[in-house]
Amino acid sequence: MIPPTHPRYRSLLEREKVVEGFRDGYVAVQGLIAQGRGECFDYLIGEETQPFALEAIRAAAAALLLARHPVLSVNGNVAALTPGTVVELAEAVPALIEVNLFYRTREREEKIAEVLRRHGARRVLGVGDDASCTIPELFSERRRVSCEGIYKADVVLVPLEDGDRTEALRRMGKTVIAVDLNPMSRTARSASITIVDNVTRAMPRLVEAVRSMKGLERRELEEVLRNYNNDKVLASALRHILRRLEELADGLYPGDA
Ligand code: ATP
Ligand code: MG
Repeated sequence: MIPPTHPRYRSLLEREKVVEGFRDGYVAVQGLIAQGRGECFDYLIGEETQPFALEAIRAAAAALLLARHPVLSVNGNVAALTPGTVVELAEAVPALIEVNLFYRTREREEKIAEVLRRHGARRVLGVGDDASCTIPELFSERRRVSCEGIYKADVVLVPLEDGDRTEALRRMGKTVIAVDLNPMSRTARSASITIVDNVTRAMPRLVEAVRSMKGLERRELEEVLRNYNNDKVLASALRHILRRLEELADGLYPGDA
């Protein structure tokens, strides 16, 4: 038991969820390491949703609402951390849900689909023979996607994706929305819209944004997208970290130590 007064309570609970997903056989061992890398960046941004993330969330909501064929990609870590919000988002947009794994095995695909169904998902793509289309230029199991899902999608939400796959999806002409705590990763830099925030905080906010922007007209949503600049958002994330570290350093020892 982690005491609720622990300063890293939330972070430790989330770590436990990923570990549990690993024990249940659907989080990859590499997923445990990925969570650690994310935790480090979360520490740096202050473990709260920052304005640059809110700006990206608004743009992401606009892109999802404007899409003809939006798809939400789910891997083991996302299924462990925030399965319910994926289902809520899929209904709010509406969008399709696809299991999309870096380390694909039939067993993990099925377990993730099962977790999503337990949280109310009616249809889950990308399991077994359904993942029979391929992303060009990628090798092995990483390139397999559902022909009805990611392959056909114009907008794909990829929380916690890998850089190579994000780049390959962009080259296929898709709008890629990433959630990645590291503003320097290739995923963050090559996505069309990068939400630099913890997936556990970003997803509920994205659901809210979609619900509240649903009433907007197409041209208003298009305007949100036109005014969005991903490099500007990534630069604000880096500047936020810089300022924050400077303040923390000054709190310890003012001036130039
Ligand atoms: P890339 O392939 O994009 O260059 P990478 O190789 O540095 O990235 P990976 O190990 O492939 O990183 O994937 C882990 C990524 O997911 C990291 O950038 C990490 O910050 C991010 N991440 C991990 N857990 C979370 C989380 N809970 N919320 C948001 N981002 C997360
Ligand atoms: Mg990587």
